[in-house]
Amino acid sequence: GSVPKAPYLELNDGHRLPQLGLGTWLGNSSQGRIKPQGHEVQQAVEWAIAAGYRHVDTARVYGTEPQVGAAIREAVRRGDVKREDLFVTTKLWNDRHARAAVVPALRESLAALGLDYVDLYLVHWPIGQFPNGSYDLTDHLSTWRGMEEAQRLGLARSIGLSNFNQSQIEGILAGCDVKPAVLQVEMNLNLQQESLRAYCSSRGIVLTAYTPFGSLLKGGAGAAGAGATRVDDPVLVEMAGKYNKTVPQIVLRYLMELGVAAIPKTITKQRVEQNMDIFDFHLTAADRAALRGLDAGLRTIAGGRWADSPQYPFERSDG
Ligand code: NDP
Repeated sequence: GSVPKAPYLELNDGHRLPQLGLGTWLGNSSQGRIKPQGHEVQQAVEWAIAAGYRHVDTARVYGTEPQVGAAIREAVRRGDVKREDLFVTTKLWNDRHARAAVVPALRESLAALGLDYVDLYLVHWPIGQFPNGSYDLTDHLSTWRGMEEAQRLGLARSIGLSNFNQSQIEGILAGCDVKPAVLQVEMNLNLQQESLRAYCSSRGIVLTAYTPFGSLLKGGAGAAGAGATRVDDPVLVEMAGKYNKTVPQIVLRYLMELGVAAIPKTITKQRVEQNMDIFDFHLTAADRAALRGLDAGLRTIAGGRWADSPQYPFERSDG
């Protein structure tokens, strides 16, 4: 078997989340692919488990659940890991916000994964949409009742939210029976989420950073233009050299030291391993302060196509 490498964060429901996980969305690569080719995701998840990952992030809409599930079943079959030692997250898509649609949607995800439960089920976006594209304004609390039922049925050990803003989370907290355990939002050097982090910590909600590299690596898409710190930034390059690490490793280490979880995506074996190799060093306070100073409030995943929904969560000036 392989040895787990990342520390755990305690959730408000008694479960624990491995602080570093593997992302599996293929829509953000330089090739702009969405559908997996061959067995690339299955292979990446198998490499990840062998490298000590115990946390994998997928979603119904990514189309990667079958490969994530196949990798997990294979690793369990080989005796590398036990199912109960893995933390698997999937997400409810926007077209299933009706309360009665939540449990059936999760059952579809479980069938695709070939698993009988997930560790975490997230409402992917606070934006409901009918299949024809018009907005489904089901209130969030009603969707959340469906999430609570999924947990009661044992189909999801923990439940949480993604892309909700502070006031939308307040709305859930005001009427829920089960508090969200996790909020998954974009967080990276260029979008450090200070106020949302403070809010989540005051409410006992663990934050997971998605798109942890933000605009660092990308060649001009989204908000990667003016103002974004890039991977060849001389300050970052020098800092990384000092620790004998890469700039992506410095960024992930910084997120770990801020107490959030992170789910970097890669289907490259050497990067799968590199991204987990961040638990043998600490940043100095001065370096943490320098990294903090790079926060530019630049969002790369803005959900701009939903900007006209009354449920749109972000400042519309984000683009
Ligand atoms: P990331 O910030 O994880 O960046 C992924 C890109 O970084 C890929 O092109 C990958 O290349 C490259 N990369 C990874 N590691 C390294 C490295 N060490 N050195 C150089 N390049 C590297 O972006 P994502 O948007 O994919 O976010 C991560 C995950 O978060 C997603 O996969 C998904 O699971 C989740 N997510 C959730 C969202 C939500 O709405 N809840 C929205 C967006 C993401 P390659 O694969 O070619 O090696």
